[in-house]
Amino acid sequence: MTRGLVFNIQRYSIHDGTGIRTIVFLKGCPLKCPWCSNPESQGSVRTSVWMKNGAEESLGKWMSVDDVLHEVEKNEIFYRTSNGGVTLSGGEVLMQADFAAELLKEVKALGINTAIETTGALPLKQIRKVLHYTDQVLFDLKIMNPDKARQIIGEKIGMIKQNFEEALNSTARVIPRVPLIPGYTTPLENLRQIGNYVTGLGIEEIHILPFHQYGSSKYHYLKRSYHLKDTPLLKQEEINTIKEFFESAHIKTVVSGLG
Ligand code: SF4
Repeated sequence: MTRGLVFNIQRYSIHDGTGIRTIVFLKGCPLKCPWCSNPESQGSVRTSVWMKNGAEESLGKWMSVDDVLHEVEKNEIFYRTSNGGVTLSGGEVLMQADFAAELLKEVKALGINTAIETTGALPLKQIRKVLHYTDQVLFDLKIMNPDKARQIIGEKIGMIKQNFEEALNSTARVIPRVPLIPGYTTPLENLRQIGNYVTGLGIEEIHILPFHQYGSSKYHYLKRSYHLKDTPLLKQEEINTIKEFFESAHIKTVVSGLG
């Protein structure tokens, strides 16, 4: 049976898809977002370590589909009573697309709603493996200028759009999500490009995820510098202005939590 490298399983989430959900975090991500709140997931799919409280702690555990199912089934009652389910996150889920597809298939076979969080930063064949078993796709749109996207986070915008449009052509419900990172994704021109792109595709709902500092201590454990440590959180008025900006383009805008 295929095994996947999982670095966390988080229960009772209400931000990553409908209802109450269990989030399974898969290790590995090809991008390098400077604001990443899961920097331990970046890089190739392999176990690693960090130093926490003076002791070495390993990151990532190889699990079979059955191992993960055993964990997620414990909360089945919450999924059924809240229209919730299981969300695969990361890292970048598509780095482990074969494992993700097998897991999503089995979760769906149990009658549990499935979701993925993705940036779509891998070739199209990866997302095609999982879409058939996915009810909701929470798709991050970050920096739309191709040069800036490549330089800052290592993202190829052409590939992101291909993946996004592939998801839209599937049976899954697709929600574009914009992390609001001051100076990176919040410049008006970037928001305008995102708005134009999604409205051009007929999308009527977007989620915005205000910047937070929850992952900052992880950089310390990894002995890496965190370049956004002095970046202030957005004020409520700034978040409202961005919400109003999208809503003026007739896009229902939901303020959500950053995954
Ligand atoms: S895509 Fe997500 S996991 Fe990957 S570097 Fe960016 S924020 Fe981190």
